[in-house]
Amino acid sequence: MTRILAVTNQKGGVGKTTTAVNLSACLAELGQRVLMIDLDPQGNATTGCGIAKRDALPTVYQMLIGESSFAETRHATAFGFDVLPANRELAGAEVELIGIKAREFRLREMLAPVDCYDFILVDCPPALNMLTVNGLVAAHAVMIPMQCEYYALEGLTDLVATLKKIRAKLNPQLTIEGLLRTLFDPRSTLTQQVSGELVEHFGDKVYRSIIPRNVRLAEAPSYGKPVLAFDRQSRGAQAYIALAQELLERRGASSEQGDLA
Ligand code: ATP
Ligand code: MG
Repeated sequence: MTRILAVTNQKGGVGKTTTAVNLSACLAELGQRVLMIDLDPQGNATTGCGIAKRDALPTVYQMLIGESSFAETRHATAFGFDVLPANRELAGAEVELIGIKAREFRLREMLAPVDCYDFILVDCPPALNMLTVNGLVAAHAVMIPMQCEYYALEGLTDLVATLKKIRAKLNPQLTIEGLLRTLFDPRSTLTQQVSGELVEHFGDKVYRSIIPRNVRLAEAPSYGKPVLAFDRQSRGAQAYIALAQELLERRGASSEQGDLA
């Protein structure tokens, strides 16, 4: 069964795209069949896995407004997973979708017949717009990357309220898959404090794996590579591998299918 996860947080710059790209690459490395969907007009997830924006045609935009099929839109990356790419055009989908019936369900409908993946990761934009709603309606669960900073818990309360609304009105099955601590600096007292509060509130919904602040994670996208293909010994790469393994453990799947030595 395909597991669809929306990587989401309305706060900007918390590591959503970094997580979508690197977790896709690590799950693929562990033998999982993975599709990543770039739902952000910034197109960072698209370029981050080596697809030039000019080659990213058709994009998820054309797919959502019914101008291209899933098969036409899907690109294979060089890293063992597939992508539905995005570029700036996707910003127009917001307006285009207004005239379309059941517009919140477009992505879900497009994915319904797709059964050739173990995981579909959706990189959501930092806003609660119609694109994010499409991601949340299509997903089984959300993965929430967050930075352990002062306003993080406040933002999380807003996000949880939003998820409740989506569940009540549009997608009753939606759950929280997990909260991921990103850009983590263990030397900061505040980080430790917020991290502690997070675990207190959300218990084992918080992944054991923590993504440290690591410069290799920030450098890899400019080479169009996931960090695994850029510097697999880096702390960032090892952290995302651990996260992929934890995800599979939680799903009860075997993570022993790939060699990660
Ligand atoms: P947006 O809300 O704009 O979509 P985002 O939540 O997708 O942002 P990213 O684009 O993944 O966040 O990360 C923001 C910036 O921080 C990027 O420049 C990225 O390379 C960098 N970054 C993300 N995670 C890490 C990390 N663990 N260590 C170092 N740099 C990181
Ligand atoms: Mg992003």
